[in-house]
Amino acid sequence: MDTALVWFRRDLRLDDNAALQAALAAHDRIVALYVHAPEEEAPWMPGAASRWWLHHALQTLAGRLADRGAALHLAQGPSLAALRNAARAVGAAAIYAQRLYEPAAAERDRRVAGALQRDGIPVHFVSGALLAEPPAVVTGAGTPYRVFTPYWRTARALLRPRAPWTAPPRIPSTTLDGALPLAAFGLLPAIRWDAGFTTAWQPGEAGAQDALADFLGAPLREYADARDRPDQVGTSRLSPHLHFGELSPNQVAHAVLQAAGRLGTGARQGAEAYLRELGWRDFSQYLLHHNPSMADTPLDPRFERFAWDPRDDHAQHRWQQGRTGIPIIDAGMRELWSTGWMHNRVRMLVASFFTKNLRQHWLDGARWFWDTLVDADLANNAQGWQWTAGCGVDAAPYFRIFNPVTQGLKFDPHGHYVRRWVPELAGIAVPLVHQPWQDPDLLRRTGYPAPLVDLADTRAAALAAWKSLGG
Ligand SMILES: Cc1cc2nc3c(=O)[nH]c(=O)nc-3n(C[C@H](O)[C@H](O)[C@H](O)COP(=O)(O)OP(=O)(O)OC[C@H]3O[C@@H](n4cnc5c(N)ncnc54)[C@H](O)[C@@H]3O)c2cc1C
Repeated sequence: MDTALVWFRRDLRLDDNAALQAALAAHDRIVALYVHAPEEEAPWMPGAASRWWLHHALQTLAGRLADRGAALHLAQGPSLAALRNAARAVGAAAIYAQRLYEPAAAERDRRVAGALQRDGIPVHFVSGALLAEPPAVVTGAGTPYRVFTPYWRTARALLRPRAPWTAPPRIPSTTLDGALPLAAFGLLPAIRWDAGFTTAWQPGEAGAQDALADFLGAPLREYADARDRPDQVGTSRLSPHLHFGELSPNQVAHAVLQAAGRLGTGARQGAEAYLRELGWRDFSQYLLHHNPSMADTPLDPRFERFAWDPRDDHAQHRWQQGRTGIPIIDAGMRELWSTGWMHNRVRMLVASFFTKNLRQHWLDGARWFWDTLVDADLANNAQGWQWTAGCGVDAAPYFRIFNPVTQGLKFDPHGHYVRRWVPELAGIAVPLVHQPWQDPDLLRRTGYPAPLVDLADTRAAALAAWKSLGG
């Protein structure tokens, strides 16, 4: 009987799990292993909200494996030592894992695979985290794309989601002595701030499949129009499930295209718009793969010498707490704090306000998102911040500064979103709910703060800073 290790990382699912499938196809039984890696292996260690999610996702994965007669073994890193110990203990013939693209993880994987290969244990990395492998999507000249639209044209033409693989009802496995209990990772917060998270989310594969099923009806049909409306449930909210690999992008793309076929014309438009967003997810990983320092340095090198304002702790705290006095910004920041998630349109608005009206460095904002988002993802987060700050490739130019009042009136036209997250403004109608400072008496009555900065003055200052860069 030969045994393979399946090294679970960000593929915390059993269905459509290419590593598990490959291991079961080539070996008699498996040992499922998750290694909690130390900081040296990931300079951006998961933040508090991600750790909360990871705890529950691992718990759920262990339950699903147990239902199939297998166990999830937990070990503390370094990864090489943990894998070597586990492989020796069970006499593993090989190790299987889903390929990762973040530079530090990819470098660690190369090192680990080289060392284990020398021990006589091959490590097989298989595709599954993206719709397309980065080397498969290149320009006619064979070079990487730097602009999304042509990238997506090529990637979309290659996209052929296959029917997802379903995990077998029994997974032949063997046990490994000395595995740790989940509590040993200390992933849950000591002070329990997670009540809102528990209400908003069901981490794990079953929760992911339920969320996908909920999306595949009216929301998919209306996605192309509703996706920009934070006051509606217009998006899939699959981002944390996709980040932790509780669903593969192949499963999602396949299900979306199947549903569109059933639902008819309107849904096909929704499906294309949705696939394009999955395309942005792939493109972020693609950019990070080709620009390994993108998480920390601007893709547009001119921004290395941009005149960011000195760090302003007071302003940053007011932004973090949702107390800037600009309602849609505060609604977004409070939604983030309370649920670990924020609507994409509002992410763009709060990031624009932070980098342009407050002129704070985009990395400070990205770090706050990193700690507080349940879907915190190195590639998507860096891409989203650099895009909004204007220093990415194919980014919104720096001089395009969102006006949070007109954006609020356009995308939250009835004020429902603001009133939901900023209860001080509960009784206030549009348009005042998006600009309450127009009525100083209202601020006195409600206790809602006056704006932290003047939107017009800070916009002018940001444009002047941009000009001094030669923009
Ligand atoms: C400043 C900023 C920071 C961001 N940080 C993150 C992050 O850390 N993690 C993260 O997953 N997304 C991030 N995004 C992208 C986007 O906001 C979220 O993916 C989206 O809001 C998730 O909600 P959803 O699952 O309902 O999206 P849907 O609209 O249902 O989209 C489906 C999926 O496509 C992907 N996707 C959608 N929009 C984008 C996008 N603009 N870029 C890349 N992928 C996208 C996500 O995986 C998402 O789950 C960021 C955007 C900005 C502007």
